[in-house]
Amino acid sequence: MGCGNKIFFWLDKWAGDYSLKEQFPSLFALQSDKRCLVQHRYILSDGHIHWTWGGESPITLSETARMWEDCVNRLENVQLNKKSDQWLWKQDENREEFRVGNLRSELDGISMLPETHVLRWLSRIPKKINCFLWRAVLDRIPTRDALVIRNTHIPSVLCVLCNTRNESMDHLLISCQYAQLVWTTISLWVKIPLPRYLLSVVGLLEYIEAHSSSQDKKKVVYLIIAATCWTLWRIRNNVIFNCKTTHVSRAVGDIKVLSFLWVKARAGKTDLDWKECGEFSCFK
Ligand SMILES: [Zn+2]
Repeated sequence: MGCGNKIFFWLDKWAGDYSLKEQFPSLFALQSDKRCLVQHRYILSDGHIHWTWGGESPITLSETARMWEDCVNRLENVQLNKKSDQWLWKQDENREEFRVGNLRSELDGISMLPETHVLRWLSRIPKKINCFLWRAVLDRIPTRDALVIRNTHIPSVLCVLCNTRNESMDHLLISCQYAQLVWTTISLWVKIPLPRYLLSVVGLLEYIEAHSSSQDKKKVVYLIIAATCWTLWRIRNNVIFNCKTTHVSRAVGDIKVLSFLWVKARAGKTDLDWKECGEFSCFK
């Protein structure tokens, strides 16, 4: 609380656990400006604060006068100063003014998400894609299987990339024969052989976590997995919404371009060479 220039007198919780509107509904009903700010409701004279009645007409009933007095008494303990009001966040000694930018950097600083030990939050991957992979791991992607479970009427539950199996998240992104062709080429590119038993996104991420040599390589492979999952999801959407199919070689090309751009732009490797990227050697 500063001078009350951002806090609504009746609507915000600034004097107790409830707003004044909730504490004194009959006084609130009589107000002419129900969205007035705190700073417009007091006058400072000789170091004393005088709260002003903002009713449509002066107080005539003794019951109203008593309630207004009660309301003013509640405000006695409120400390006002000349500074602007601030939204604070965090606990105790870490409390600071809330800024969206601070929240952003906090999110960027998170490397592991608590829901599962295989998820990372990589700043070099666009936030939208971090969220996509997060939702994929938690099985919150609106695949056809997921839509049917939620009682959504759809023409078919079959995967649009192979037309043989139900479209679940793990099928679409991992075990579908189309996805398998993509993953085979990607695994050759990153020089990590993928065993046949890998049938889920979580399984794939666990495998990479256990088998990549260095932390740096793990991050890059994670980034490429994110690019692959995202590309497969877009290819699937293109079939459903635009009736456009994508050849596997085109899909792999898109994944390589996406990975290259993310590493180049976000990891500060502006001298990254596309030819080197084709060999994957530049990523190590
Ligand atoms: Zn399929």
